[in-house]
Amino acid sequence: MNELASTPALQPLIYDIGAPGRIGVNLPDCDVPEAELPTELLRDDLPLPEVGELQVVRHFVKLSHLNYSIDKGFYPLGSCTMKYNPKVNEDAARLPGFAQLHPLIEETGAQGAMYLMYELQGWLGEISGFEAVSLTPAAGAQGEFAGILMIRNYHLDQGEAQRDIILVPNSAHGTNPATVTMAGMRVRELPSNDQGNVDLDSLRAACQGEMRDQIAGMMITVPSTLGLFESTIHDVIDIVHDAGGLMYMDGANMNALMAVVKPGELDFDVMHYNLHKTFSTPHGGGGPGSGAVGVNEKLKDYLPGPIVDIIEEEDESGAPLYGYAMPAKSIGRIKAFQGNFGMHLRAYAYIRVYGDTGIRDVTRYAVLNANYLRAKLMKTYKLPYPRYCGHEFVLEGHVDDVEEVHALDISKRLMDYGFHPPTNYFPLIVPEALLIEPTETEVKEDLDAFVEAMERIAEEARTDPELLLNAPHTAPVRRLDEVRAVKELILCCVPALPAAGD
Ligand SMILES: *Cc1c(COP(=O)(O)O)cnc(C)c1O
Repeated sequence: MNELASTPALQPLIYDIGAPGRIGVNLPDCDVPEAELPTELLRDDLPLPEVGELQVVRHFVKLSHLNYSIDKGFYPLGSCTMKYNPKVNEDAARLPGFAQLHPLIEETGAQGAMYLMYELQGWLGEISGFEAVSLTPAAGAQGEFAGILMIRNYHLDQGEAQRDIILVPNSAHGTNPATVTMAGMRVRELPSNDQGNVDLDSLRAACQGEMRDQIAGMMITVPSTLGLFESTIHDVIDIVHDAGGLMYMDGANMNALMAVVKPGELDFDVMHYNLHKTFSTPHGGGGPGSGAVGVNEKLKDYLPGPIVDIIEEEDESGAPLYGYAMPAKSIGRIKAFQGNFGMHLRAYAYIRVYGDTGIRDVTRYAVLNANYLRAKLMKTYKLPYPRYCGHEFVLEGHVDDVEEVHALDISKRLMDYGFHPPTNYFPLIVPEALLIEPTETEVKEDLDAFVEAMERIAEEARTDPELLLNAPHTAPVRRLDEVRAVKELILCCVPALPAAGD
């Protein structure tokens, strides 16, 4: 069933409103000589809507209200860190000196922007304990790809081309195995134990058995996508390093660690950051993102370029001169120019506003908020791993004795209460998973309101399960055929043009 096309609650297409002769603009009288228009480009058969300015404004404002966003309400979408995006970042990004800078401008004409990127590289390195950082990757997944290519090239340079296996725990984000495959390496999945940690026996078996010489490294998320800090992380790192492999940390969950635990100091070799998660640059509407990568001394020369470096300590004004540099053995460029500069700018503003103690507080409040929700909700829903969590935690989305109600139904019903549903059915190793990440930007009243909604939904599941099974009741569209919606995207709603000759 695809209700999108037929639901009356949806507003009409802009093509269906208006009337002949209505117009949204008044052009001034022409005060230059009229020129001939290229007639071959002119057509009068385009079904363009004729609408007034107010109608257009209302149309698009109403459309924007159909959308859900962090500015509208609580958005506990686990793993995605949907925190508030401070408006001061947007002010910074709109400063004309930055916004109007052309990417091909001479380096000497972009010193302010380059200073900003240089500082950001340094701060990201400082926050996570890495030696060097490249800002170029455009997303977490692209940062992963860069990281795994660096590991591959490192082994090639060591004369160990046979090292092509990357170990990946079964709780991993789907991008991890996809990255490994795209980099031409092989994935070897590792099971998790009943604590939610990587099973050390399986890890030892892989690293000390006959595959030992083929181990290129391991990708691991800390805290894991279960929201749990990997309590045996020192052993994990040692075992992989002893086998000659390198350690990749998926840093998408840095909101639980920033300025508290430094992955570089834990002895990770490489990590990506999601500036659009941890560092509050906007996401959720499809990008653009930024997946900067940090590395230790070993991989420094392999970073994707360009990175910003000081090329002359002081020019005549007394300021250093910044330039773009390609690291000696760089894996090359993976994105045009220097990556998504607008995101670097927002992340820079974010870190500047908070400062080092503020950044640490962000982490602390994120972890506090998650544990507050966890402690409240575990009274009503099953918590498969009863441990303190990082910045997020997983519940099982069902209610005792009500078999027909699933995580999906609970999620849909939450929409009626005005909340964005949590991530559901991920991580894959928890049945009916609901992955809940409140972030540090929510106040206690909003967390309590969410708890109350979750408790009422559990009650409704027992007394009136149909209410959940048919939810949402208040959204502009009801249950969609999500599989078909992904496979048959309708990206354009322009009515069909009359066929030629009609
Ligand atoms: C979001 C996420 C990624 C991928 O990041 P993108 O920017 O969406 O490509 C990878 N791993 C984890 C754990 C994530 O949460």
